[in-house]
Amino acid sequence: KKGVRRMEHWLTKRAYLTPDNIAIELSNGETVTFAKLYEKACEFASKIYTVHQDGHVAMLSNNSIDMAVAFWACTYLNVPVVFLNTRLTAVEWQTQCEDADVKTVICSDQYKEDTQQLTLKAYAFSEIHSFRPTECTLITDMDLDLVCSMMFTSGTTGRAKPVIQTYNNHWSSAIASALNLGLMSNDKWLACLPLFHIGGLSILFKSVIYGMPVYLLERFDEEKVHNALMDRNVTIVSVVAVTCSRLLERLADGYYPSSFRCMLLGGGPAPKPLLEKAKEKHVPIVQTYGMTETCSQIATLNEADALRKLGSAGKPLFSASLQIQVNNTRAKPNQVGEIVVKGPMVTTGYYRREQANKESFQNGWFHTGDLGYLDEEGFLFVVDRRSDLIISGGENIYPAEVEEVLLSFEGVQEAGVTAVEDSKWGQVPVAYVVTVNEMVTANQLLAHCREKLASFKVPKQLYFRDQLPRNATNKLQRHRLRS
Ligand code: ATP
Ligand code: MG
Repeated sequence: KKGVRRMEHWLTKRAYLTPDNIAIELSNGETVTFAKLYEKACEFASKIYTVHQDGHVAMLSNNSIDMAVAFWACTYLNVPVVFLNTRLTAVEWQTQCEDADVKTVICSDQYKEDTQQLTLKAYAFSEIHSFRPTECTLITDMDLDLVCSMMFTSGTTGRAKPVIQTYNNHWSSAIASALNLGLMSNDKWLACLPLFHIGGLSILFKSVIYGMPVYLLERFDEEKVHNALMDRNVTIVSVVAVTCSRLLERLADGYYPSSFRCMLLGGGPAPKPLLEKAKEKHVPIVQTYGMTETCSQIATLNEADALRKLGSAGKPLFSASLQIQVNNTRAKPNQVGEIVVKGPMVTTGYYRREQANKESFQNGWFHTGDLGYLDEEGFLFVVDRRSDLIISGGENIYPAEVEEVLLSFEGVQEAGVTAVEDSKWGQVPVAYVVTVNEMVTANQLLAHCREKLASFKVPKQLYFRDQLPRNATNKLQRHRLRS
């Protein structure tokens, strides 16, 4: 067909180029080479061939070699894989499966029992392994414009949306990342983020496309990650703010070996105190900005600028473009507006969400729903989510800024800020905090805020809570703070 972009299947190609190199390494020492991964994926494909029906396959599993094998198997059958978050309830899985046209579920054995609550047929990895392989044709070339995977957004600001991710999106993301971070012959990437999130899955693509081993952990385990960084020659690890801060604590006065290149920090805002702590400990942090819709990073702050531009998410990667727009026109430097992006890693759209697509794609730009600005040198600073913006007496208040001030107070563990209606100001900010003990008082905290913030930004009420509402990814859901 004219205009169809094809490429030899990445795993086939990789198994041909470097068959004996390690593709996946586990903490128990188990390894899989690219040749073996290819062989296992093809075998798995020939076993699910008969059970998968038309429609999409959902994957319900925590990180494992089996999960990687099952995923690659689906690519050999050209079956889009819908990744389910294992932390959701069965009712939520059911809804997401319906939203994403899933006909068959494959799961790790651990979740087999839970899947009985679904109306769909589910197969555990061990069941599939016991199937007899059937004669079937596996694809040799990938059609880059086809749907490779679907992932739901985290549902931080509302109902999670199914994001279409094509082969081209994943390819472009892996290449753009390499053009930025560079590729070293000794690179080994540690994956402790779930593969059902783009921050995790993108590492699998990088592994196969770069020919690089992945050190795969079932989940974030502070001790295991620390040991891997210290003794297993890991060069890069992807982290989010919470896990990063725990690793820095664990490092205490130590240093990572010189072969360790960087922590790629993304998924949410990076609090300044955390970045400063990393700087103190000589831990190279590469701050990134991205989302499910951009198939992981779309902007990254290089190490060279890390200290000079503390708090910035850097510049858009090669092949990606980024603008700040206010009323559909380009903002001036330092002017806050909506972050819009385009590039080959940006999703082709939400699956069957016409309204959301109409709102998000305008004039070729994808509207992220995030607010930010570019400084005079073109460095991106992410400010907050547009939907969480508080407007009080005509002044903008970014909850993230107020939260950061609250968090900088000794003894404050978590903070969330949201708006309440106010007859005089329209909206006013209120704060919810979790403290380590009862020593911290509201008066102290408010005094601290008054010292650091303009008076209109100081919370009008402050409530103590045992915990704050978070989604399955542990992101703060500000719209639920008041309930
Ligand atoms: P939903 O779209 O369903 O509300 P979500 O946006 O949290 O959920 P993800 O795709 O997992 O779903 O997260 C991407 C979002 O995370 C970005 O749009 C942005 O709001 C936030 N984010 C990512 N990187 C950064 C960063 N460096 N600084 C600030 N925020 C970030
Ligand atoms: Mg989002």
